[in-house]
Amino acid sequence: MLYKKDLIENFPILKREINGKKIIYFDNAATTLTPTNVTNAIKDFYDYHNANVHRGAHLLSNEATEMYENARKTVAKFINAKTQEIIFTRGTTESINLFAYSIGKSNWLENKEVLITTIEHHSNFVPWQQLSKIFNFKVNYYNPENSLFELDKFFSNITENTKLISITGMSNVTGQVIPIKEIIKYAHEKDILVHIDGAQLVPHFGIDVIETDIDFLSFSGHKMLGPMGIGVFYGKKKFLKKLPPFQYGGEMINWVSIENTDFAELPEKFQAGTPNVGGAVGLKAAIELLNEIGMENIKKHSKKLTKYAIDKMKELDYINLYTSKDTSSVISFNIDNVHPHDVAQILSDKFGIAVRSGHLCAQPLLKQLNTKSVCRASFYFYNTEEEIDKLIEGIKYIKEWFK
Ligand code: PLP
Repeated sequence: MLYKKDLIENFPILKREINGKKIIYFDNAATTLTPTNVTNAIKDFYDYHNANVHRGAHLLSNEATEMYENARKTVAKFINAKTQEIIFTRGTTESINLFAYSIGKSNWLENKEVLITTIEHHSNFVPWQQLSKIFNFKVNYYNPENSLFELDKFFSNITENTKLISITGMSNVTGQVIPIKEIIKYAHEKDILVHIDGAQLVPHFGIDVIETDIDFLSFSGHKMLGPMGIGVFYGKKKFLKKLPPFQYGGEMINWVSIENTDFAELPEKFQAGTPNVGGAVGLKAAIELLNEIGMENIKKHSKKLTKYAIDKMKELDYINLYTSKDTSSVISFNIDNVHPHDVAQILSDKFGIAVRSGHLCAQPLLKQLNTKSVCRASFYFYNTEEEIDKLIEGIKYIKEWFK
């Protein structure tokens, strides 16, 4: 066990049972559990400091502003960025919409191409597809065989018109970890910018934006112990300065007249309206806990559990596994002749195990896999090998039951 504190005390949801069975939470790729240090931090904000930020001269407003800006500092340090480069959003989806809209509206992509892949979550797919109909750019799709990414084949989709690559750092279906460093290096040699969808990558691997030289990055707080409704969009300052705002209104202005508006400096330029201060405070607490445990330890633990689970599953010849040699933390599978929704429901009802089933917001990827639906077990640092043994027991039971 990686987590040294009293697990149950710090993740009270684990006190719950499903039909008398201790809950086993394997739906971490959808959202992680929320520890009490996070809920306490949010409660403390609302109980004692709740006020709107930036605009007030009174004590509470100053405290709220300080808490909000401290959260930004914590996020910046976590990914090795500057504070002005951290834009708070509602999550990865909003971050990508912000970015796609903003860069689409700028003249950066004028008559040029964005390269994405068919292994993306819909969040990094639909915005590009739809905004290319409004703005003047084209989307190219790398559609890998069996939905497994291959670097050389990906590179062969780059054309002389490619201006931007937007790709996931880790698939939420196959768990494949994508070689983003190689992609970024190659892209930069060709003057191509790179945006990484870090929704799955950041919670398990962390990221250093300087070391990787990432131009733009999106991720969600709720997939790394934080609350829902808070996420991050990162961009290199020199690029963010040139991009137009995504939304207009309060907070994002310097001055306003009937004739025109002068936009605020970074990061406010991209943050219109009252922000989710409680969410940012919660995300800060989440990152503090992740730092305490250590991202390197989390990474090792995820890899160990993944290998353990895949080895066990491979022993069962009626399981179809949608994994690769680079899979981490996320394992999608199907049991021959059993619908994934039945699998998920029986695992929950009979074994207290929470797994996800469905298209996992990745329909183009599932189409390549020739299936409409899969089951997905996804792990985080609080999961154990014993819990995986229970999952295997559940799978065997289901196969027998549907015989
Ligand atoms: N990208 C990936 C790879 C994801 O796994 C997810 C969520 O599952 C998202 C984007 C969207 O994240 P959110 O719903 O937090 O905006």
